[in-house]
Amino acid sequence: MKVTEYFEKAAGSTLVSFEVLPPLKGGGMSKIFESLDPLMEFKPPFIDVTYHREEFIYNQRPSGYFEKTAIRKRPGTVGICASIMHRYGVDAVPHLICGGFSKEETENALIDLEFLGVDNVLALRGDARKFDNKFIPEPDGHSFAIDLVKQIEAMNEGVYLDANIVDGAKTDFCVGVAGYPEKHFEAPNLESDLSFLKAKVDAGADYIVTQMFFDNQKYFDFVKACRKAGINVPIVPGLKPLTKQYQLNSIPRNFFINLPDQLVNAASKVKAKDVVNVGIEWCQAQSKELQEAGVPCIHYYTMGDSDTIRKIVKSII
Ligand code: FAD
Repeated sequence: MKVTEYFEKAAGSTLVSFEVLPPLKGGGMSKIFESLDPLMEFKPPFIDVTYHREEFIYNQRPSGYFEKTAIRKRPGTVGICASIMHRYGVDAVPHLICGGFSKEETENALIDLEFLGVDNVLALRGDARKFDNKFIPEPDGHSFAIDLVKQIEAMNEGVYLDANIVDGAKTDFCVGVAGYPEKHFEAPNLESDLSFLKAKVDAGADYIVTQMFFDNQKYFDFVKACRKAGINVPIVPGLKPLTKQYQLNSIPRNFFINLPDQLVNAASKVKAKDVVNVGIEWCQAQSKELQEAGVPCIHYYTMGDSDTIRKIVKSII
């Protein structure tokens, strides 16, 4: 079923959904099940599975020279989606990125997903690869998420890349896209970022999932600005709890978001082992306030830590 249909059916109550990362190569599917089994009592209507493109690594050769090799450390997104749907009977939402895909590879991936019974995809651009200083699309790939949204929408109309295909089978994907309450780091300002977000929605995106934030006011302001800009699709808040002291620096560095003073002070005052409790309490309060505000769904970035996520979700269910 489509993500947006779940929101319509829930009418007014707040659903919860989860996001998992494929395990590092060699990790096995059991890692995903171990992290999801304890969360299934919350009846998530859908579970997202992230996509990770190839990375470059440098290996030193006996000659002393370094050899550059491309490897994918976390393959398996589509297989994990199939396993999740089979084991739990819930919808899996694969993330699909522009990076590393030609348009034809994207088309073939979408055909696989359609045949598998996947009804939703989250359409993203992806980040620049490590060692590249900007995002570089494939020679025949997409430069921005909006181009991916347009390709999916074309397939939803039965239009394929090969113009000789007439009366092509129509796919019926519900499309999610990313939104950034604190602006995407490359955007010159929030207004510009919002105009591109609106363009993604105008191109056919059905819902938005936000980057994580730790200050709900940022989300509320973002929703207000979106509505003012004419973006009227559901906007799902994405939450991740703070669990480690080093994240006070790594989260702002990696995700380009601010951490509120009150949270930083509370996490800095306690012993390293107690930071997780500060993070849980903070995320519980965020979840409660978002639920009271009537958000359609809260999307938790689980990072495989089901214990922490359980404690948070239990407080609102
Ligand atoms: P876009 O919407 O294409 O925007 C990228 C930048 O370009 C923005 O600054 C935007 O303002 C600007 N822009 C957009 N359109 C145009 C245009 N036409 N002309 C000029 N500028 C434009 N990454 C992964 O690799 N795998 C994942 O599974 C993954 N999951 C994610 C899930 C969520 C909920 C979020 C919020 C992010 C996720 N990401 C993932 C990270 C994401 O790929 C990066 O943040 C990436 O840098 C931007 O992706 P986007 O889809 O927002 O890009």
